[in-house]
Amino acid sequence: MIRTIPRPIGACAVVMAASLFAGPAAAASFDACVKAIRADVLKAGIRADIVNAAFRNITFDEKAVRFSRTQPEYRLAIWDYMAFLVDDVRIADGVRMMQTHGQTLRAVEKAYGVNRYVLAALWGVESDYGQEKGIFFLPHALPNVACGGKKPAVFTAELIQALRIVQAGDVKLQDLNGSWAGAFGQTQFMPSTYRRLAVDFDRDGRRDTIRSVPDALASAANFLKRAGWQSGLPWGFEVNVLRSYSGPIGRSRKSPISAWAKRGLSRADGGAFPATGSFGLIRPAGPSGPAFLVSHNFDVLYSYNAAEAYALAIGHLSDRLNGKGGLKTAWPTDDPGLNRAQRKRLQELLIVRGYYKGEADGRIGPLTIVAIKAAQKKAGLKPTGRPGTRILKVLAGN
Ligand code: CA
Repeated sequence: MIRTIPRPIGACAVVMAASLFAGPAAAASFDACVKAIRADVLKAGIRADIVNAAFRNITFDEKAVRFSRTQPEYRLAIWDYMAFLVDDVRIADGVRMMQTHGQTLRAVEKAYGVNRYVLAALWGVESDYGQEKGIFFLPHALPNVACGGKKPAVFTAELIQALRIVQAGDVKLQDLNGSWAGAFGQTQFMPSTYRRLAVDFDRDGRRDTIRSVPDALASAANFLKRAGWQSGLPWGFEVNVLRSYSGPIGRSRKSPISAWAKRGLSRADGGAFPATGSFGLIRPAGPSGPAFLVSHNFDVLYSYNAAEAYALAIGHLSDRLNGKGGLKTAWPTDDPGLNRAQRKRLQELLIVRGYYKGEADGRIGPLTIVAIKAAQKKAGLKPTGRPGTRILKVLAGN
């Protein structure tokens, strides 16, 4: 598992405010905790000059600690998750990036046997094709998270691994920006994963998944290969299921493809089933939503980030990058999720209508949620705080 939260950068994370390390006694305890971690890092063999630079100007980071301590207020609906991750802009950007880096993608596909559309999709979801890498400076965020009480041993160990990467000359200390939990670079590897699996594909002597696209794509491919990726096996595909179906459900309850045909399933796109392979049936939104037969390679994607919605987003985006169409079955909702442009538009309207004073950046944080709730209440809708099509239409006046 790469991350401790099954949610890519910038996705809807709704958190509750907490007051931490308030007052002089707490500040002293923070300083003592950081000092102890610093000693651990030195003891682990990180050079003093790197340690000094890493801990220079470290201060209490309320945001990192808050993110590490809080759980989302509600579970993101699958249609919100998919609308956000597989939107037209990410598809168009991905098609363009696959052209720009076509040679690299083909070389990586050849070297690791991992489908290049899947690699591009993973790259697009993890870092928006290298454009977004995270807002936290790891050498400061990780001690904060550890001192904030979140698995101190784990996050101290990740800090040590991060500084080993710097000590090896692979990346520069100042480039170590990522998530509060320590995932960084274009593939959002945790430092320990990076140490095990990152590769120097452009052969410049450094493994650099931050600045080198070949290194990043090959490192992701190496991860998937080590996790058991089977070359040539599709991740899965959408299927039609008979209304009367009452057989096995779940990605781990796999059957040979021939058994699924006997159970009355067919491909939603009208194509033929693959000749071989073992698949499980998933219905992420229940019996009335889209259904998918998923293979072992879906499980491999799941191992990158432990959420079925994540694996589905990667799989579906890879199909879209390969020129295939959208899902045939609609998600069972009368209030569809918003893509990134629509989220931004929603925030702009909330600002214009006086509900929101923040930035229209497409990120749905606690302030946006409060604003959406107020707007919903005013419009006579249930105040859920969820960014959906209905409230967007109300605010847009149509
Ligand atoms: Ca390199």
